[in-house]
Amino acid sequence: MRREISEQKSQSSCASANMTATWSKNKDTARIVIIGAGASGIAAATRLLEQGFRHVQLLEAEDRIGGRIHTIPFAANVIDLGAQWCHGEVGNVVFERVKDLDLLEKSGDPSPHFVRSNKESLGEDQAKALQNFMDSSATISEADYEGSVGDYLTQKYWQNFPSMDRAVAKEALDCIKKIFCGSEACDHLFELSPQNFLTFDECEGDHNLSWRDKGYKQFLRVLMNVQQEIQPEDLGILKGHVLLNKRIAEINWQGVDELTIRCWNGEIITADHVICTVSLGVLKEQHKQLFVPALPAPKMGAIEGLRLGTVDKFLLEFAEQPLPEKMLNFSCLWLKADLQELRGSEHFWLEGICGFHRVAHQPRLIEGWIIGSSARHMETLTEEKVLEGLLWLFRKFLPFDVPHPKRFLRSQWHSNPNFRGSYSYHPTYADELRTGRYDLEFPLAADCGRPRVQFAGEATSRTHFSTVHGATETGWREADRLNEFYKVRA
Ligand SMILES: Cc1cc2nc3c(=O)[nH]c(=O)nc-3n(C[C@H](O)[C@H](O)[C@H](O)COP(=O)(O)OP(=O)(O)OC[C@H]3O[C@@H](n4cnc5c(N)ncnc54)[C@H](O)[C@@H]3O)c2cc1C
Repeated sequence: MRREISEQKSQSSCASANMTATWSKNKDTARIVIIGAGASGIAAATRLLEQGFRHVQLLEAEDRIGGRIHTIPFAANVIDLGAQWCHGEVGNVVFERVKDLDLLEKSGDPSPHFVRSNKESLGEDQAKALQNFMDSSATISEADYEGSVGDYLTQKYWQNFPSMDRAVAKEALDCIKKIFCGSEACDHLFELSPQNFLTFDECEGDHNLSWRDKGYKQFLRVLMNVQQEIQPEDLGILKGHVLLNKRIAEINWQGVDELTIRCWNGEIITADHVICTVSLGVLKEQHKQLFVPALPAPKMGAIEGLRLGTVDKFLLEFAEQPLPEKMLNFSCLWLKADLQELRGSEHFWLEGICGFHRVAHQPRLIEGWIIGSSARHMETLTEEKVLEGLLWLFRKFLPFDVPHPKRFLRSQWHSNPNFRGSYSYHPTYADELRTGRYDLEFPLAADCGRPRVQFAGEATSRTHFSTVHGATETGWREADRLNEFYKVRA
């Protein structure tokens, strides 16, 4: 199917080959509009400017740059509502870019802590065995595996723990599944395709490198070449190239010449190239109105088939750290009867919570994670209701008191129309549709390969999707695509 598409493209492009000769733009005059100032948009813009393009404009719907990197002041210093850790070292462009700047810190390897809903903790050996299972046995490497990740993991789990008390083992399996859903952003593992593991290129090294007390925003400052001492809102080399509060309503790519971009306030902007970096969630919700004419069928298939899942965070600041010294984190194991009761109560959404942990450089903080439909429901509740639920959960699971926090925040990635979720995954449905990230990535080109509308963003990364390093690579990929095109014309 993919070969057919490229054949179709090259036929139409060669038919209008004479137009290539008439394309008179160069790096000084070509107008490039990048939609979205997240990691991929910033990576694309900064690289294009470094490559000598002069007319580069970033249009961002929010009143801030960063997208799913959102570092804000909180408690002792800052917190990240979105991306938080640099996942790996070898082959990780984020790590490569900052490794000599002394910005990242190793995470150490905190022992896991599992608590049951009757306040019992699992023993250290049992907890370590579960952690080892998650670290080593649960990712798929068999290329021809037919089932879902849920099938695979369940089978492996029972092979690994044949003699564990059945009730506890079942509770722990449910908890492990939630932890995996948290890292993959799926609602449940039985919808998750093995493709997520087979195509993802894991970067070796520490997977939870923290940005100390500065947050992930530091990386964007490095990309933009912002000097540390200057104002926090300094845009470095992007100064004069970013327009905030510019939500794009329509990209008209009719014809072969300039493109017309309509903002929500009716303003019209014209360009020679558009790099669209909006999230897969935004594409899903808006592509039918956003693109005129409609996108080609393979692109629409990818937008329909791939998914953007929801993972949200809770941040609680206390007067003093409420967890005992040795407890760095805890995950929740629901006893069957308690779970049944929970499901019938107003707190049913708490089932989607994966666990809580302390945060480096934030001594009085606890951070929690929630996934899937529970997260989406949580986003609709008031902050008071959410906090009431969390305090109820603490009382249910922990054998010590957790006081009312001084401050509380939660993320709402799904409710925000500029995101509609957290990060992308490849469900088994995409396998059924025979689509994938390659269909999301391909640019809409005019004559003999001149890119007109390009697609970047984490969901378009074939090997590092759902991460900042993946998003950054896609921004660079599309900048390089344009650079290659204009190099021939220099
Ligand atoms: C809770 C959470 C935790 C995460 N943790 C990590 C982590 O620890 N490590 C890691 O590597 N990754 C993590 N990620 C993933 C990482 O944040 C993303 O993969 C990455 O930031 C995506 O960048 P992007 O440029 O592709 O998209 P985005 O950051 O979404 O950028 C797209 C931009 O487009 C804008 N936009 C949308 N619609 C329009 C429109 N119509 N007009 C104009 N602008 C528009 C948006 O406002 C946004 O700023 C996490 C994400 C979340 C949500």
